[in-house]
Amino acid sequence: MKVMKFGGTSVGSPDAMNRCAELVEREIKLSGKNPIIVVSAHSKVTDKLLDAAKKAARSSCEADIDAAMETIANRHYEILDGLKLPRSIAEKNLAELRDLLRGIHYVKEVTPRLYDYVTSFGERLSSKCFAAMLRARGHTNAEAINAYDMGFVTDSKFMNARPLPTTYDSIAEAYKPHASKLLVVTGFIGKDKNGDITTIGRSGSDFSAAIFGAALKVDEIQVWKDVPGVMTCDPSLIKTARPLARLSFEEASELAYYGAEVLHPSTMVPAVMREIPVRVLHTFNPEAPGTTITTKAEIDPKYPIKCIVYKEDQVLINVRSERMLGMEGFMARLFAIFERHHIVIDMITTSEVSVSLTTNTTDEAKLKSLTHDLVDLASKVEIQKDKCILAVVGEGMKHSVGLAARTFKAVASSGVSLQMISQGASEINITFLVNNSEIPAACHALHAEFFGA
Ligand code: ADP
Ligand code: ASP
Ligand code: MG
Repeated sequence: MKVMKFGGTSVGSPDAMNRCAELVEREIKLSGKNPIIVVSAHSKVTDKLLDAAKKAARSSCEADIDAAMETIANRHYEILDGLKLPRSIAEKNLAELRDLLRGIHYVKEVTPRLYDYVTSFGERLSSKCFAAMLRARGHTNAEAINAYDMGFVTDSKFMNARPLPTTYDSIAEAYKPHASKLLVVTGFIGKDKNGDITTIGRSGSDFSAAIFGAALKVDEIQVWKDVPGVMTCDPSLIKTARPLARLSFEEASELAYYGAEVLHPSTMVPAVMREIPVRVLHTFNPEAPGTTITTKAEIDPKYPIKCIVYKEDQVLINVRSERMLGMEGFMARLFAIFERHHIVIDMITTSEVSVSLTTNTTDEAKLKSLTHDLVDLASKVEIQKDKCILAVVGEGMKHSVGLAARTFKAVASSGVSLQMISQGASEINITFLVNNSEIPAACHALHAEFFGA
């Protein structure tokens, strides 16, 4: 059995949905088994839902909420109409959403718990539409099911919840009575132990797919996207980027962590646990081989680097303290301050009297109170915004001499100066900091250096 996950663009229009249905049918024909289908919300719907929740809390005018609601309803009707499916499929959920937005409007407050309740409608609606489409094509056993009715239990960290360790067993148990069905499961959402709906972070449906795959011990986790696989760099920036045939779990985890939008950073965790191959495939060109991600790395001495990735909008924090020279426990105290402010550190480099750290927290108030506490420890604290972490990733790096020099020379020759440099002990990435505005120049130079164009 396989998991087939379809992303937002893949379920973004009636035509795209029909392509997904053909892919499911092809899989049933080839393997004789029903895949577990996991879907994202139709493209742009999650953004619209977040926006509607924000407006509901902030706007004094009820008409604004009605307008936001109408846009969301129309987006779903347009897809149902295009698939010649009845609008009634969406009506119950849309009525519930309308009531919820009105409720938020009356109390004038939206909490992370409510954001999750609101955004859950995206996947709840798209899964229903997908299952109805399959039934209309003759698959009478197709059924939409919410992940939380399939044993998906998370902690209560709303908007970024993590599955509980028991989730894998509870999914396997919950699946049993449904084994003969063609299930269409919601990505992105779960419920906590109190029964409140949670979400697992933006683009989380890849992660959901991997969790279902691991829980049901499938042969393969397929993620169907609008790109021909994981590519040497973001194709929206580098037109000559090309798909990578193979990646190791470790490489894929690193590149997702350092910003390659193509995979949710946690996707590999369940796959590694059960050693299940993950394949990234192109919905609009299913014959293309895509990218296969497994335990084993493929080392080609010609291409020691597999991928160039970047994470924009980072904040650089420089902490200078003459007192840190030989002072025991300085780092522990520094980290404790970050922990107290719930600020996650990404990169860190140290010198004798200073520490440079990066975070993706851009919230002014949070950074101000962090600085306030840091000055107790340091003689100077400096914050710089609009930074970008750039990383080159590849297991071939371990076996190649002079790669750091090639990387830095390429970037420098494009006129970009590197601000922080770090290489993890695992030696499969080199990361450094540049300004947001320098991303295109640095990526083009690196792509030309390592991939010849
Ligand atoms: P989904 O269909 O699951 O929502 P996404 O849209 O989140 O998929 O991910 C695909 C997008 O990721 C592409 O449109 C592409 O611009 C972007 N992307 C960034 N880096 C890469 C990369 N290295 N390889 C492929 N796509 C990438
Ligand atoms: N719909 C969610 C999002 O847009 C999850 C996903 O698409 O994977 O972030
Ligand atoms: Mg996405």
